[in-house]
Amino acid sequence: MSQIAEQLNSVRQRIHKAAREAGRDPSSIQLLAVSKTQPQAQIQAALEAGQQAFGESYLQEALPKIQALTHRPGGDTVQWHFIGPIQSNKTAMIAGHFAWVHSIDSLKIAQRLNKQRPTYLPPLNICIQVNTSGEVTKSGVSPEALPELASAIQALPQLYLRGLMTIPAPTHNPEAQRQPFRLLCQLETHLCQQGYALDTLSMGMSQDLEAAVAEGATIVRVGTDIFGARRP
Ligand SMILES: *Cc1c(COP(=O)(O)O)cnc(C)c1O
Repeated sequence: MSQIAEQLNSVRQRIHKAAREAGRDPSSIQLLAVSKTQPQAQIQAALEAGQQAFGESYLQEALPKIQALTHRPGGDTVQWHFIGPIQSNKTAMIAGHFAWVHSIDSLKIAQRLNKQRPTYLPPLNICIQVNTSGEVTKSGVSPEALPELASAIQALPQLYLRGLMTIPAPTHNPEAQRQPFRLLCQLETHLCQQGYALDTLSMGMSQDLEAAVAEGATIVRVGTDIFGARRP
């Protein structure tokens, strides 16, 4: 078995165990393999080990990988998720090449993606990124501004609002790890009570996936523990 296959297995086992401990069905949690900065061969190895969903943060490096892998055996069913910060001049290519975008925190970017999503593709799956750590991080909409952004995105026909995403300030304290995830889950529950049909909580990375699963994650985004440390 390749090293990547082994590491994928061990991450899947961690998800499985955390789900069982939380009384959740492990199959309700999707593993997104974060392949940013990783060469195509690493992604190919993960693909051969059965991994189907990959997350990328930088459009320029993602596009050649998407093009190359789409034409490899099994590559046509790969699902690409954009998880990084989005500049306006990148929205057309993101709208054309990805199935999901997790990092929406502005209406302007959402409107551009909506306009540029090719109509021959299904609506682009969207998560709104929420800043659950207050001053510590800058990306993500504040919990206060979330309802207005959700309502505006819901009205865009080429976007399909699926749920919320967060990247908390890192901490090794398991109890502290859970707090921002719990907040994100509460925000989503609140939106659902207002009538939104949301089914996705994108939260948890290599360091804190157990905490995220305990608080209801449906997509965990794992890079380092699958592919090894990234080169800077
Ligand atoms: C890089 C990245 C990850 C993966 O982080 P690891 O700690 O390597 O697992 C997850 N989510 C986002 C948004 C990222 O940018």
